[in-house]
Amino acid sequence: MINSESAVIGQPSVRFLGGTESILGSMYLLEFGSHRFLFDCGREIHSRFPRTGLRSFGIDPASIDAVFLSHSHVDHCGNLPYLVSEGFIGPVYCTPATRDLTEVVLLDSARIHENEFARTGRPSGFDSADVEDTIEQFVTVDYESETDVLRIAKIRLLHSAHVLGSCMFQLDFDWNGKSYRFVFTGDMGRFGLPIVGEPTSVPSADMIVCESTYGGRIHDSFQETIEQFTSLIKRTVERQGKVLVPAFSLGRTHLVLHCLRHWMATGLVPELPIYIDSPLAQVIEEVYQEHQSADYLTSGIEFEWLESKDDAWYRTTQRESSIIIASGGMCEGGRILDHLKVHIDDPRCSLALVSHQSPNSIGAQMLAPTPKVRFHGREWNKWIEVAKIGGFSGHADTDDLKRLLADAASDTGKICLVHGETLQKETLEQELKKLGFNNVLVPSFDQRIDL
Ligand SMILES: [Zn+2]
Repeated sequence: MINSESAVIGQPSVRFLGGTESILGSMYLLEFGSHRFLFDCGREIHSRFPRTGLRSFGIDPASIDAVFLSHSHVDHCGNLPYLVSEGFIGPVYCTPATRDLTEVVLLDSARIHENEFARTGRPSGFDSADVEDTIEQFVTVDYESETDVLRIAKIRLLHSAHVLGSCMFQLDFDWNGKSYRFVFTGDMGRFGLPIVGEPTSVPSADMIVCESTYGGRIHDSFQETIEQFTSLIKRTVERQGKVLVPAFSLGRTHLVLHCLRHWMATGLVPELPIYIDSPLAQVIEEVYQEHQSADYLTSGIEFEWLESKDDAWYRTTQRESSIIIASGGMCEGGRILDHLKVHIDDPRCSLALVSHQSPNSIGAQMLAPTPKVRFHGREWNKWIEVAKIGGFSGHADTDDLKRLLADAASDTGKICLVHGETLQKETLEQELKKLGFNNVLVPSFDQRIDL
């Protein structure tokens, strides 16, 4: 039993407080002596009761020295305002883009909580004042520069190429006359995807905590994705239909938008009006404009934000062929449903599913070979063409992970696999053993493992 290792007094250790199963928010506590460093503080995405009380784990938030935030997705940052309101006063280290994106994402969550409060009279979560207090504690660090952490440790932030601003952390510290290195990958990106750049190899360490979302899967190549998506657009234009693209507001919307503009500019698809119906993505776009590299901004192809529901209705009911990117990656909510209801029984139109669709989502039901789908209290005829476009994932697959971890294999103590379903972790575990890792572990929830 690995837990018994914690009997070694004074040995640095990590507690796995989340992300040990796919549905839990990412959260890992590195402890040595009285020092406590928290890596990510994510929310359970599908939980109706998102609050994860650290106190229930016997940890006082005020006792944590510093937080390290890998990126701005809610399952990595969503519980930070609770941590602060419950007494955490230390720095939150991240990249400048992650700070700006996290502010937008958390304010969006706060707005939902505030609306809920106005409706029911019951507080349902943190508010915008909590978010502002949280963001004040952020300390930004550039990629690759080595930075001192409270004179206890040194950190280096490495490109993980998962979403704008995402990083992995390398933390070096001395304890009881010994030097240690801890590496937390956060979510790892892929090779060959536009905009986000290429991920950096994972350095060797005494312990690596590594994500495994697609540890047992191989993605479609991006070239295949281009072929699938552009032929779908061309077919739809020939039928004089519209292409609807449900996309998550952070990252996916911007990647798809960049690709569409690039394909139009280079003649891969005909030039069509592009409309985006996602208030959150519009705010996020300002952060992209500030932090993203120049090739994202230049293409000469215009697009239009649909500012109001009236604008959206006007554009979606116009006769012209167009592409509409709308919020709601799995068609579960968001603006996409407004467009889908108009076009779902129109065989000239198409629905391009560019994100993962969880099994019972409306998106998955759209893909199923059935003539009808049920949502919003009625059945709809499914006559629109539905296509799964597989290659936009922002997560490394098995091959990417092997390539990113190969250099670290011979010189790493333990590698702990998190943030993935059992099958993904088991497959990656076998692959990493073949690669030469001697000690591959799959921690369970609230397990403590020594470095
Ligand atoms: Zn992520």
